[in-house]
Amino acid sequence: MSAEFEGKVALVTGAGSGIGREAARLYAARGARVFGADVNEQGLSETHDLIAATGGLIDTLRVDVAGEAEIAAFVAHITDTAGRLDIAFNNAGITGGTHAIEDYPTDDFDRVIAVNLRSVFLGMKYEIAAMLRTGGGAIVNTASVAALTGPGGMSAYAASKHGVHGLTRVAAMENAARGIRVNALAPGWTETPMVAANSAQNPAFAELARTAIPAKRGGRPEELAAAAVWLSSDAASYLFGHMLVVDGGMTIGGFEL
Ligand code: NAD
Repeated sequence: MSAEFEGKVALVTGAGSGIGREAARLYAARGARVFGADVNEQGLSETHDLIAATGGLIDTLRVDVAGEAEIAAFVAHITDTAGRLDIAFNNAGITGGTHAIEDYPTDDFDRVIAVNLRSVFLGMKYEIAAMLRTGGGAIVNTASVAALTGPGGMSAYAASKHGVHGLTRVAAMENAARGIRVNALAPGWTETPMVAANSAQNPAFAELARTAIPAKRGGRPEELAAAAVWLSSDAASYLFGHMLVVDGGMTIGGFEL
């Protein structure tokens, strides 16, 4: 087990599946004590067992990231039990339905904003205060290629992810001189279990999506997790307020030869 994050404490939201699970595994494999949160308790328990089986340090808690009291209690639980917080990967998210704006149910819009954007504000609000008490840290927020583009039917999702980009830059500006680096990860089409299940149901759409990606394949969750972990590591020590796009070239633009 590599000691890169030995003695460090890492928080991961959305740790019960996909990119968050792989990031939790990688932090633990590199020596961090990991606190994973999710609303999916079954998924959390699988993540817990995967990490514990390899001797990693993992605690899990059911947390709805849209709720301020739950986020505050989660961060307090971490600092009470581990004495510090060094890394936070604010990654939980939902896609929401696909509707034209004029048909988009307002309650659904509010829910996507609460889970994807308000959660990142709330997370950072409590994480930054905790990190400042022990000398700093690193935060990574999961945005999306939808922070750069305008996918039809996905107004709430795209607005939430553009918002995550903005929040990341403000937080980076406010904290650059205080020892906390804040950056964002923008995944492209990533073959998490949910995306893989959708692809199996709708192979024609999945094929179309893959042909539109210059790399001609979706990303693997562990490829996204590796980028998130790098952003939060000392190897990225001069990176502030950056959004790292990891998308197989999907947003290059231009055209093929
Ligand atoms: P995923 O569905 O496998 O994982 C997301 C996790 O977040 C799930 O375990 C889910 O239970 C959890 N979650 C949802 N709502 C929550 C809440 N209110 N509180 C706590 N946890 C909650 O999907 P993923 O692809 O690993 O998603 C991770 C992040 O990556 C999300 O922010 C997503 O928007 C982003 N993203 C994914 C893709 C992709 O193609 N998979 C592309 C761009 C961005």
